[in-house]
Amino acid sequence: MPNYLVRDIKLAPAGRLKIDWVSQHMPVLNVIREQFIKEQPFKGYRVAVCIHLEAKTAYLAEVLKAGGAEVSIAGSNPLSTQDDVAAALADAGINVYSWYNATAQEYKEHLLHLIDDQPDIVIDDGGDVVQLLHTERTEVAAKVLGGCEETTTGVLRLRSLEKQGALKFPMIAVNDAYCKYLFDNRYGTGESVWSGIMRTTNLITAGKTVVVAGYGWCGKGIAMRAKGLGAKVIVTEVDPVKAIEAYMDGCHPMHSLEAAKLGDVFITATGCKDVFTARHYQVMKDGAILCNAGHFDVEINIPDLAAMSAGRRKVRKDIEEFSLSDGRKIYLLAEGRLVNLAAGDGHPAEIMDMSFALQALSARYLLDNAGGLLNKVYVVPKEIDDRVANLKLQSLGVHIDRLTPEQAAYINEWNHAT
Ligand code: NAD
Ligand code: SAH
Repeated sequence: MPNYLVRDIKLAPAGRLKIDWVSQHMPVLNVIREQFIKEQPFKGYRVAVCIHLEAKTAYLAEVLKAGGAEVSIAGSNPLSTQDDVAAALADAGINVYSWYNATAQEYKEHLLHLIDDQPDIVIDDGGDVVQLLHTERTEVAAKVLGGCEETTTGVLRLRSLEKQGALKFPMIAVNDAYCKYLFDNRYGTGESVWSGIMRTTNLITAGKTVVVAGYGWCGKGIAMRAKGLGAKVIVTEVDPVKAIEAYMDGCHPMHSLEAAKLGDVFITATGCKDVFTARHYQVMKDGAILCNAGHFDVEINIPDLAAMSAGRRKVRKDIEEFSLSDGRKIYLLAEGRLVNLAAGDGHPAEIMDMSFALQALSARYLLDNAGGLLNKVYVVPKEIDDRVANLKLQSLGVHIDRLTPEQAAYINEWNHAT
C-alpha cells in the first residue's frame, strides 16, 4: 500500500480520466514509457517528484513508476494541486503528499514527507525540496544521487548554492535545455497565463492595455499572446537589451511607474520581488487587475496593497477585490501565485510532453552516470535535448533535412575559396 495524504481518495476516478486524457497528447513521453517498461532503468530506486500536481505531472510520475521506480510525489505550490489527480495517483500505488489550498505549514510538511521517503533522485520545481535537503534533512541529502530542476528560479537558486560550494549532490538544470525554455517558458506560459486570466475573469482582452513585467522567456510569450488577443502591450524591464527587444517586437517598454498609470491588466514574470508596490498602486486606474506568472507570490507586494485598503473581499473564485481608501478598487488574481497553475491547468499537454520527457531522460542519465558526476549544476546533455526534439518532430509528422557530408565539411571549414 502506498502512503498518502490526499483530501479525498474517492475522487480517484475523476483524476484518472484527467490523466488518461493528457497521456494521449504526450507522444514523446509515451515512447519513453515503452522504453522504460522494457529496460526498467529505475528498478530498486526511489524517485521524489515535487512539481505542480496536476494531470501532466501525474503522468510523468506514472512513467517513472513504469520504469521500475518507487515514486513519491508532492505539489510544488499550495494552490496548484488538483485533489482528484492526487487521489488517482495514490490509488495507482504512488506515495502522494499534497492537497489543494494547503497552509504554509501543511505545504512544508508535505515536502518533508516526500524527503522522508529517502529518495535516490529528486525532481524539483523551484528549489523548495533541495532547500529542505540542505537545511532540515541533510542526512537524507547525503544519500541522494542527484536531481533535476524544472524552472528558471530553481536553477538560479541552485547556481547560488553551487557558487558557495555547498551543493550536496549533482543537479541537472532541465529548465535550461532548448526543448524546455523555448517552448514551455515561452509558448506554454504565453498560452496558459491567458487561459488562466480569461477563465478567471471572463473579461475581454481586446482593446485593453496589458503591462507585462519582465521580458524573459515567459514575458515574451505572455506579451506575444496579448498582442494576438488585441491588447496594447507595455513592457517593464531592468535589462536594457531585453527592453530593446520588447521595443523591436512592437511592445512599449517604459518605467513601471509610468506603466502603472496606463495598465488595465498587470502580469509579472520576473522571478524578482516587489515588482509592483504601494507607489504603483497609488497611481493605478480604478478596476486594475493584477496577476503573477513568476515563481513566488512576492512579485506583487500584497502586504502593501492590503495596508492601503479599507477592505478586501473575494468577489469570484480566484479574484480578490481590494477597496482603497480613495474609493478605487484593485483586483488580485489567485492570491498573487502563478495564475496559470493556481487558477488553471497550467501549460498544455503537448508542451509538458517535452518538458517531462527531458525530466524522465535526465533522471535516468543521473542514475546511469551516478558516481561519475560532481556536486555541480549540469546542463542537459545535448543528446537528450536532440532526442526529445527528434521524437517531437516525429510525433508531429514533420521531416527535416540532413546535412550532406559536403555541407557538413563546408560549414566547418574556415578557409573558403574567395
Ligand atoms: P528569464 O530570466 O528569462 O526572464 C526574467 C526577466 O525579468 C529578465 O529579462 C529580467 O531582466 C527581468 N526582471 C528581473 N527583475 C525585474 C524587475 N524587478 N522588473 C522588471 N523586470 C525584471 O526568466 P523566465 O524563464 O522568463 O522565468 C520568469 C519566472 O517565471 C521565473 O520565476 C520562473 O521560475 C517562472 N516560470 C513560470 C512558469 C509558469 O508556468 N508560470 C513557467 C516557466 C517559468
Ligand atoms: N514552486 C514554484 C514552482 C515554479 S512554477 C511555485 O511557486 O509555484 C514554474 C514551472 O511550472 C515551469 O517551469 C513549468 O515547467 C511548470 N509548469 C507549467 N505548467 C505545468 C503543468 N501543467 N504541469 C506541471 N508543471 C507545469
